[in-house]
Amino acid sequence: MSDYKVSARKYRPQKFSDVSSQEFVTQTLKNAILSGKIAHSYLLSGPRGVGKTTIARILAKALNCEKPDKGEPCNKCNSCVEITNGIHPDIFELDAASNRGIDDVRAIQDAAKFFPIKSRYKFFIVDEVHMLTQHAFNALLKILEEPPGYLIFILATTNPEKIPATIVSRCQRFPLQRIKISEITENLKYIAKEEKIKIDKDSLFLIAKLGDGALRDAQGVFDMAVSFCGTDIKYSDLKNFLNIPDKEIYFEISKMIREGNTGELLKYFNELNEKGFDLQTFFHGLTEHIRDLMIVKSTGNSGLIDESDSIKEKYSEESEKFTEEQIDRLLKILIESESRFKYSSNQKILTEALLAELSRVNSEVADLAEILSELEAVKKKSKSGNEFVNKDVLEKKKDNIQIHKKNNSKNKLSETENKGNHTEGKAILKEGDLAQLIKHLFDAEDYNFN
Ligand SMILES: [Zn+2]
Repeated sequence: MSDYKVSARKYRPQKFSDVSSQEFVTQTLKNAILSGKIAHSYLLSGPRGVGKTTIARILAKALNCEKPDKGEPCNKCNSCVEITNGIHPDIFELDAASNRGIDDVRAIQDAAKFFPIKSRYKFFIVDEVHMLTQHAFNALLKILEEPPGYLIFILATTNPEKIPATIVSRCQRFPLQRIKISEITENLKYIAKEEKIKIDKDSLFLIAKLGDGALRDAQGVFDMAVSFCGTDIKYSDLKNFLNIPDKEIYFEISKMIREGNTGELLKYFNELNEKGFDLQTFFHGLTEHIRDLMIVKSTGNSGLIDESDSIKEKYSEESEKFTEEQIDRLLKILIESESRFKYSSNQKILTEALLAELSRVNSEVADLAEILSELEAVKKKSKSGNEFVNKDVLEKKKDNIQIHKKNNSKNKLSETENKGNHTEGKAILKEGDLAQLIKHLFDAEDYNFN
């Protein structure tokens, strides 16, 4: 394993056709190269780790290549090899995060005055260009206004909105996409094969997902997994190593929410919390879980979520056990809590309150007025000679009582909480209250409420 290099560097794409998920950008650039329509400044924007500087280098290579092939660099000639190794004298790479001042841009201005030493084009690849100071942007603008024919700027940024419009308007813009989980998975699979590393499907998925659309990040996690697990990566080891909540945990939680089992849920959460999970990760994981349930429930298609086949199957089953309304309400609560969560000084308490709230989503608040009027109607009918044809209504009421019985007995919090939550005209009916009420209305001694 001693010669094991960091995957992101070793497996950096060297051709446009090897770049994942950015076909629109790579195809447009290839077409421009083939038709000779080269711009003097390009702006590549997009999230971190999606291939901005990789594409910049491939473009520099393709345009300076001695033997380009259909718009692609040969990766064999002297120029290509020097660019790959980062030693080409006409390619300048700058990180604006650490070189952001006017002097840094003046140095570019000076260097830009001279013809390229050995190639057709001289490149300045400026990463995180939005970090430049206003003075530096002004100096950059001067070069971009009248660039010499041999000069090409490739500006890369994660925050294009922070770049002055005067700069942006002089660039050809290419917004890059987050990389699809399936493409990250394929990439990792390829690396694993090349490195002779055994890795199971679930591990591949987990690592790809952790990359969150950034191939480089996923490759970083993959490297960590290799250093921990060696050449045989198993899901069970991996999730212990990463110390992240397993999907199973979220299914367990949604089951308790579904059953309104607040007490058990809080107990379960505390056990989890003792394992030291990052609560922010847990919150996001739970939100994503409910989101996935919503997608599967509303489309009836588990193929739309980024999960392994066995997990997809579980989503299909679990979503059947919720109504659409229930899922919508859960998701709404989670989304509304997001900003509170971010700025909370005590995330544990907030999580507990949130879980308690979620677990009560299924308990319907009985509307006293509504029940009374329905019962009056039933009473009238029964008194007017109808036999108990309204048994259905009664059964419904009985269900209501049971729901409240369950909630009240299983957590003490719910009663006080519910009192505070009540709007006018609504009240929680305790089992005994309603029983008495019905008894009173019907004078029905023998009605069994359990
Ligand atoms: Zn070449």
